[in-house]
Amino acid sequence: MISQSPDTKIPAEAPIRAPSSVPVDDAVLPFEIDALDLRGRLTRLGPALDDILTKHDYPTAVGKLLGEAIVLTTLLGSSLKFDGRFILQTKTDGPVSFLIVDFQAPDRLRAYARYDVARLKDGQSSGALLGKGHLAMTIDQGPDMSRYQGLVALDGGSLEDAAHEYFLRSEQIPTRVRLAVGEEFRGGEGGRHHWRAGGMLLQFLPKSPDRARQADLHPGDAPEGTVTHTVAEDDAWVEGQSLISTVEDVELIDPGLSGERLLYRLFHERGVRVFAPLPLRAKCSCSRDAVSSMLKSFAPKDRAEMVKDNKVVVTCEFCSSVYEFTPEEAGVE
Ligand SMILES: [Zn+2]
Repeated sequence: MISQSPDTKIPAEAPIRAPSSVPVDDAVLPFEIDALDLRGRLTRLGPALDDILTKHDYPTAVGKLLGEAIVLTTLLGSSLKFDGRFILQTKTDGPVSFLIVDFQAPDRLRAYARYDVARLKDGQSSGALLGKGHLAMTIDQGPDMSRYQGLVALDGGSLEDAAHEYFLRSEQIPTRVRLAVGEEFRGGEGGRHHWRAGGMLLQFLPKSPDRARQADLHPGDAPEGTVTHTVAEDDAWVEGQSLISTVEDVELIDPGLSGERLLYRLFHERGVRVFAPLPLRAKCSCSRDAVSSMLKSFAPKDRAEMVKDNKVVVTCEFCSSVYEFTPEEAGVE
């Protein structure tokens, strides 16, 4: 029998590209492995990440953690098909008490972290830096649409752990995430280092939902003492997880290894299709006008308290841009 039904899995922008051997930074590369019903995205960040992190001069551990949050945001937010916004935030009791990454489709990224330098210690893991609290992901599709917010508890684990928990509990899509951030040292620039990062998201999306059962979901409310049977995961997903687990941090951030080559290295035996990269850039949305209207929304008393040396100075927390106003411009009487 000859079937003429169209394959709905092929996206409109489908052409399969010849693998580029030239590494492309600041982009998300979508890919598919049809034989295993896997879909994924690979992020490589160079100058955009370096721009965001160096504007703040963060301690290395804080920069690395914020870098992980930025990569995770690009993996999750780059699937937005509208002119929307994806915001990832953490609020926790650890040395890094607050992180925010703001992704505005199609390509704008900005982020900052709040931390207590006195509580930073050498060798703290991401989980120890965050401590306990929660991670919130907000999708904002504009004024006429409802906002979606997903919450995950943070309990001493990493952002990778939190992402797995989120997909298991909320989306119920078998998902693995890898995040890596590093510093690259080059000669000839006074020893200045450059931040780089990479990450990968892999999801199992079989046509039959029955195949998407995950091993660590409890089988049900069987009476106490009943032997619980472990749910067997689908062979394709077992293979997918085993393949992504072999990705090393150094491969994710290697400036000499293109995303296509990395995907080919991992998945060539099963055949991997790579789609056009989605570019990313570091760009804050603050402006003098926006800061000015924010000042005007404050109570007159609060505005008056902001005057120092006969001027009002506002620094953008995202990009460290400084905006100066005379008391008259700031609406102080
Ligand atoms: Zn700004």
